[in-house]
Amino acid sequence: MYTDSAMTCIFCKIIQGQIPSTPVFQDGLGYAFADINPKAPTHVLIVPREHIASLDKANQDHQALLGHLLLAAASIAREKGLKDGYRIVVNTGEDGGQTVDHLHLHLLGGRMLTWPPG
Ligand code: 5GP
Ligand code: ZN
Repeated sequence: MYTDSAMTCIFCKIIQGQIPSTPVFQDGLGYAFADINPKAPTHVLIVPREHIASLDKANQDHQALLGHLLLAAASIAREKGLKDGYRIVVNTGEDGGQTVDHLHLHLLGGRMLTWPPG
């Protein structure tokens, strides 16, 4: 079942294989793939298969799904050998810098990351 926004969503199309991507991990709940414009040596996007427009649109029904995606991100970080650390980012809304309206976790690592972000 897809909503109208999911029909046009580029991440839904990536999940369905209509837009090519480089897969990193997948299971019944989520899909992870390389960011097309990496901001760090490792830059992976982890997305739920379900179209959720943003973290702000998630609800209690998504509690286990969100935990699952977060643990998947940590697992991918270990597989990528990011033993010195990494960062998980969930840009949300306009002020948060979200440009794709399908909830996604950024996994960034492989270099020293600065703080605060811009
Ligand atoms: P946001 O700015 O919404 O937090 O992150 C969206 C991310 O999606 C950006 O880092 C951008 O590079 C990535 N992105 C946008 N379009 C595509 C695409 O078609 N394929 C892949 N692999 N990444 C994409
Ligand atoms: Zn979507």
